[in-house]
Amino acid sequence: MSPTVAGVVAVLDELYPPATAAAWDKVGLVLGEPAAPVRSILCVVDVVPETVAEAADRGVDMIVSHHPLLLRGVSSVAPTTYAGRIVHDLIRAGIALHVAHTNADVAVDGVNEALADLLGLGFLRPFRPDGLGRVGTLPAPLRLADLVRHVAATLPATAWGVRATGDPEQIVTTLAVASGSGSDCLPMAAGAGADAILTSDVKHHYASEHVAAGGPAVIEAAHWATEWPWLPRVAGLLAAKLDVETFVSTVRTDPWTLHSTGAE
Ligand SMILES: [Zn+2]
Repeated sequence: MSPTVAGVVAVLDELYPPATAAAWDKVGLVLGEPAAPVRSILCVVDVVPETVAEAADRGVDMIVSHHPLLLRGVSSVAPTTYAGRIVHDLIRAGIALHVAHTNADVAVDGVNEALADLLGLGFLRPFRPDGLGRVGTLPAPLRLADLVRHVAATLPATAWGVRATGDPEQIVTTLAVASGSGSDCLPMAAGAGADAILTSDVKHHYASEHVAAGGPAVIEAAHWATEWPWLPRVAGLLAAKLDVETFVSTVRTDPWTLHSTGAE
């Protein structure tokens, strides 16, 4: 028998307890009738018009998103606003929306752990006991240049790929991962004994100062690409625990869609 929206939320809250989300975060059920049946679920990184259209095309009853649709204070969901348009489209299509964000980052079956697993890291541990990030050991030591290629070949492709700081010949044994915006995690990766850290959204000055201080090499991929590996994980867990069909979004929601080095 199909679960209800409330039943799906209960399973998600067990996997990703809302109390473990950051104080500033907004997680949980965004819209949808708790008693409505859920036969199918689409898992996405971003709730944007393209993934809402994907959900409607697939005819799913619910979206599980990593990024919140309504993170900042909202005084209107008029359809003339960006988020309000999405709210209206979801309600009209009868699609519920649930968000698991920073609570999914820190969880055992969460975003960082899914990223680390995809890269084959072993002996995983968080940067700090609160569950932030993950540090692990590569199956075999790799030159930084080879690791960058491994990351690019393993993560879902984006227009601009993967870039890194550091000596290409440096041997990396221990890799830290911080899915999404991980600038704040650079000192923690150093403290955790990592040779390199994979993250995204690192500002120029952060990267420069970190490298100058002798910190671990920084490997930067698209924010979306570092979080996407969680989608098959949560989709698989929901399908295993509930009588639902689950789908992983195939829409690439990385906003950076063009890249050139001027040489091609
Ligand atoms: Zn993110």
